[in-house]
Amino acid sequence: MSKNYRAELVGAFGNPIDENPTGVMEEAAFAAKGLNFRYLTVRVEKDDLEAAMNGVRAFGMKGINLTIPHKVNVLKYLDELSEAAKIIGAVNMVVNKDGKLWGENTDGKGFLISLKNEGVSVEGKQVVILGAGGAAKAIGVECALAGAKKIIIVNRNRERGEDLVRLIEEKTNAKAEYAPWDSTYKVSPETDIFINATCIGLYPDVNSKPDVDYDTVTSDMVVSDVVFNDPNTLFLQEAAKRGAHTVNGLGMLVNQGALNFTLWTGVEAPIDVMTDTLKKEFSL
Ligand code: NDP
Repeated sequence: MSKNYRAELVGAFGNPIDENPTGVMEEAAFAAKGLNFRYLTVRVEKDDLEAAMNGVRAFGMKGINLTIPHKVNVLKYLDELSEAAKIIGAVNMVVNKDGKLWGENTDGKGFLISLKNEGVSVEGKQVVILGAGGAAKAIGVECALAGAKKIIIVNRNRERGEDLVRLIEEKTNAKAEYAPWDSTYKVSPETDIFINATCIGLYPDVNSKPDVDYDTVTSDMVVSDVVFNDPNTLFLQEAAKRGAHTVNGLGMLVNQGALNFTLWTGVEAPIDVMTDTLKKEFSL
């Protein structure tokens, strides 16, 4: 009788990474589907990424997640990119396809699925995004590719904000516009979907909220936050007080994790198990 003591490996490289709960969620999903996979949460310093990616190849890992600060730097160690990852210029996951490393960005796709699960479509909508970093870029590009009419990027750093606007205008059919964020931001009444894609409110900064005039948020807006730790952010609390339909960052986290699971294993992800596992981690 032949026995196999070797598991297939996936995981995450990042720094900081210790508080990232993705591994618990993916391992619960592997167990639920009876898959012999292990997820390794690994702290990798900025300068060690090349060695770490050589490790992915040497260990024959099935794939890897990338988080801060590796999402852009990893591109030079990959063999191929998805179309969306080429536009976004960053990846949050890699699949090892028979020795060829293929990069994809599932952050924005996971975000769109979390909206869809709440009955919200971005098609033809006006979307306002706070932030122009990695998460904002992935969300902005995917909203544009999914048919959003207009995307307004509100960012403190003008250059980064304008770069994202240019990217959306050049690579998609959506209109995009930059709005400076040098004083309290007032949300225009034409806004359909209002998103915080900054890290304001992320643990341990849980008592902070983006500098917004929350009285300009109305009950016909959908308001979403990418911050998932803690998911009940002050940003969402303020929006809920104005009657807006709020969508927290856990849905994005679960759904990008589910897409990654399927890309690595070829098996449909057990979304309920993943959601329940995360909720337990956050004592919800
Ligand atoms: P980046 O560092 O790439 O970008 C951060 C953005 O936040 C920048 O636009 C920055 O503006 C802005 N920002 C930070 N602090 C402030 C402030 N005090 N006032 C105004 N703007 C500020 O980070 P990421 O895009 O990678 O991550 C952003 C958030 O998204 C994090 O909280 C992360 O946890 C979350 N995330 C959630 C996911 C999920 O599945 N739910 C997936 C991926 C990310 P500026 O350019 O002016 O510096």
